[in-house]
Amino acid sequence: MYQDILLHVGGRWRAAQGGKTIDVVNPATEEVIGTLAHASTADLDEALDWAAKGFAAWRKISAYERAKIMRKAADLLRERLNGMAALMTMEQGKPLAEAKVELAVSADVIDWFAEEGRRAYGRVIPARQAGVYQLSLREPVGVVAGFTPWNFPVSQAVRKISAALAAGCAFILKGPEETPASCAELVRCYVDAGVPAGVVQIVFGVPAEISEYLIPHPTVKKVSFTGSTAVGKHLASLAGKHMKRVTMELGGHAPALVFDDADLDLAVKHLAAAKFRNAGQVCIAPTRFLVQDAVYEPFLEKFVAKCEAIKLGNGLEEGTTMGPLANDRRVAAMEGLIADAVGKGAKVRTGGKRAGNKGYFFEPTVLTDIPGDARVMHEEPFGPLALVAPFQSYEQAVAEANRLEYGLAAYAFSSNAAKVAALGADIESGMVTINHLGLALPETPFGGIKDSGYGSEGGAEGLEPYLITKFVSQTGV
Ligand code: NAD
Repeated sequence: MYQDILLHVGGRWRAAQGGKTIDVVNPATEEVIGTLAHASTADLDEALDWAAKGFAAWRKISAYERAKIMRKAADLLRERLNGMAALMTMEQGKPLAEAKVELAVSADVIDWFAEEGRRAYGRVIPARQAGVYQLSLREPVGVVAGFTPWNFPVSQAVRKISAALAAGCAFILKGPEETPASCAELVRCYVDAGVPAGVVQIVFGVPAEISEYLIPHPTVKKVSFTGSTAVGKHLASLAGKHMKRVTMELGGHAPALVFDDADLDLAVKHLAAAKFRNAGQVCIAPTRFLVQDAVYEPFLEKFVAKCEAIKLGNGLEEGTTMGPLANDRRVAAMEGLIADAVGKGAKVRTGGKRAGNKGYFFEPTVLTDIPGDARVMHEEPFGPLALVAPFQSYEQAVAEANRLEYGLAAYAFSSNAAKVAALGADIESGMVTINHLGLALPETPFGGIKDSGYGSEGGAEGLEPYLITKFVSQTGV
């Protein structure tokens, strides 16, 4: 049922000009399951021409009508959820249940932005003269080029496309080559709902070639990227050179603070779920577990027991709670980071190695006694790896939480109300969730600070990056 994936350009699903394709591999079996069309420069030119036409048409459609089309796309996604979830699991590896949750929330994201688009209000500013009307108007920024990764093939794309469409923009998506089918099916939902030709298009190819062609192109007015900090900095500088607006959703290295007054069972349950979801390939996953002295050993014992209860397997199989890593690069990255840490004195409390001899499976891993100069204390592991360390005081925990240049997500557990309030203020991070898992909902802001990027992709804030402000001052003659 996994079919070869086409480009969607100018309202048509079609092969690439020149007929070039790339193989898609199932990470649970290492088998080639399909191919995807590899766009040429001629395909990109066609997409750019159509995006300009699509924008001209879409911006004239009222926000009310745009919302109706978008809500239909959300309904189509819900109707197609089971089939799309199976495609996602086959190409990405995550358990089917996780794929279904990703898709259900993605449908909610479309609905959320459909409604927010109807509330893109401007302002009337009191004038200094009678009869003068000073209007601050919100207009769509124009054609957007978006680049989304393989870890959440649908939810990374749906936030960008939906916000852009709600604002009246057209969108060219460079989808994830390793997980293209579910992302292409998302685009099909908008198309089948009645979005005009050129408004949402999807291309695949060599990421660097496509970004270097699209970003400087005069038709493109905004760039939105999700991926690693290194690539994000490169693309932001390219966009800056051409004065393009940018949203950057980049890497993280989230701290998770567990105080001695915390409900330990609650902390273990939530943090294990957040760590091992999608095999840890989540930009907001907790990585540095900082546990207060008095509860360090009990926490570790309970957390390791949770790790060892995880059922590793093909995401399509009943009972699997963690799938393979999405590609062989992640396996090599895990092995390299763990070998480096252990070589410098870290201890492996559980896991630590590849599982089986087929598929990119990796054991849920807990390291302790990790020296400060281990690479993993600075680099995002982006895999099923938890670093657990004790702390003595509140100040020490907060200093460690804020130590890195990353600032995407942070987690904390404490039953002390004053500490909870202080943590919300003291942690330098775009998102902080305390005593529960409360991140990444359609209606709440999502984004990082420092090297984790800028711009928000959720909540009312998520619409802003796709709007420009125009000031009009007018009076009768
Ligand atoms: P990578 O840095 O090569 O690629 C990350 C993403 O950026 C991919 O989707 C890739 O297609 C895209 N990309 C890379 N170079 C690009 C370019 N020049 N122009 C446009 N897009 C480009 O690494 P990878 O091996 O695919 O992923 C591993 C790292 O990426 C992880 O360590 C993690 O930091 C980061 N990542 C982050 C997220 C996130 O949600 N923030 C998602 C996926 C990957």
